[in-house]
Amino acid sequence: MPSELLDDCFEHNRDSLRHDEALELLKERIRPAVGVEPVALDQAHGRILAQQVRAPRPVPAFDNSAMDGFAFAHADYVRLGGRMPVSARIAAGHASAGPLEPGTAARIFTGAVMPQGADTVAMQEDVRLEEDGGGRTAIIPAGLKAGANRRRAGEDLAEGTLLLEPGVRLRPQELAAIASTGAAKVDCYRQLKIAILSTGDEILRPGAPYQPGRVYDSNFYMLRALLEATGVSTTDLGVIADRPQAVRTALEEAAAGHDAIITSGGASRGEEDHVVTAVEKLGHLHMWQLAIKPGRPVSFGQVGKSLFFGLPGNPVAAMVCYLLYVRPVLIRRGGGDWPVPHRFPLPADFDMDKKAGRREFVRGMVRPGKDGRASAAKYPRDGSGLISSLRAADGLIEIAEEVERIRPGDPVSFIPFSELGIG
Ligand code: AMP
Ligand code: MG
Repeated sequence: MPSELLDDCFEHNRDSLRHDEALELLKERIRPAVGVEPVALDQAHGRILAQQVRAPRPVPAFDNSAMDGFAFAHADYVRLGGRMPVSARIAAGHASAGPLEPGTAARIFTGAVMPQGADTVAMQEDVRLEEDGGGRTAIIPAGLKAGANRRRAGEDLAEGTLLLEPGVRLRPQELAAIASTGAAKVDCYRQLKIAILSTGDEILRPGAPYQPGRVYDSNFYMLRALLEATGVSTTDLGVIADRPQAVRTALEEAAAGHDAIITSGGASRGEEDHVVTAVEKLGHLHMWQLAIKPGRPVSFGQVGKSLFFGLPGNPVAAMVCYLLYVRPVLIRRGGGDWPVPHRFPLPADFDMDKKAGRREFVRGMVRPGKDGRASAAKYPRDGSGLISSLRAADGLIEIAEEVERIRPGDPVSFIPFSELGIG
């Protein structure tokens, strides 16, 4: 059932939140948003399923041949020493007229229905044919096991199998499975509508001539692509100047027609940071101090019925904070299961000292180590504005709060970007 937002759903009374605490809190507070709609299967890639899918009949629906070849009863094959007259021809899509004549074989093609009485198929490359007065005899080599090259009805899905539950995101494999049951449409959650706003007097949209002191807007393109990868629809609300009234008006307008607003930049409490104050005036805002690095505060709030996420301006911090906190919230709000990225243990291929008490997410590359096994290398430079580091990386290396030093060979946990919906 769709649910309204809790009032002030991001409130908490902690000075600083550990990563796990932050995720627990978000997971607890966020419920799916309204709306289910039927979606044609050819439009459903990436959408989140809102119904169960069962197999109304077995898949495959009938025993069939896995090869082009000859089908026969294994008992006859043994009894006749592999010599069997060919008595029928069965192509895919054309059921045989009747049961297989005892003691004979049928010419059969991949995917064709196994004739009644046959249980085994010899592949055509192994079979020799002898012409004998109008007929043909198949000479089948010894050694085939009963049931060879036969696909059983229901071996992919037994009749009645529950193959999908609500909350699943439809990947190409899921679309294939749904199609195999014969369904042409499925109920999916309505796509969330997300407004993206860049902020800052220095921010310039690509395409405009360069001006001294200005910075081209990388975050908009990055965030839009990240959001599209979670299956939401996005609106570009442009770049908002560092003026309180401009920020306020933009947020008010955005809140009216969107399930969530994501801003980047201007999210601290500096003199030129107006986003925080504007959201506080319009609704609720909580700046979460997260015990993580990259560790600029991330703002969570509400403006009317819309969620608000204020990301840092630096592209690395914006992307990492989005992936760690905003992505799971939006997936859940859009009806999906709360995503938990798999971590893969890899030996470190770097040296690092760190402060205890905070969790670090460093940009990492998977490299063959000295012994040829995969290892995790760290991008050599730290700057939070280095888009190059995001490009070089294959994922994030997660280093736990209590760890103070990493030496080559120490196990670290690696989260591939694919686990975070990228690529
Ligand atoms: P702020 O969070 O506004 O203090 O910005 C932090 C840094 O991120 C500054 O160097 C900004 O110029 C930069 N920045 C902010 N927004 C963007 C953006 N949309 N694209 C690229 N860099 C940005
Ligand atoms: Mg700024």
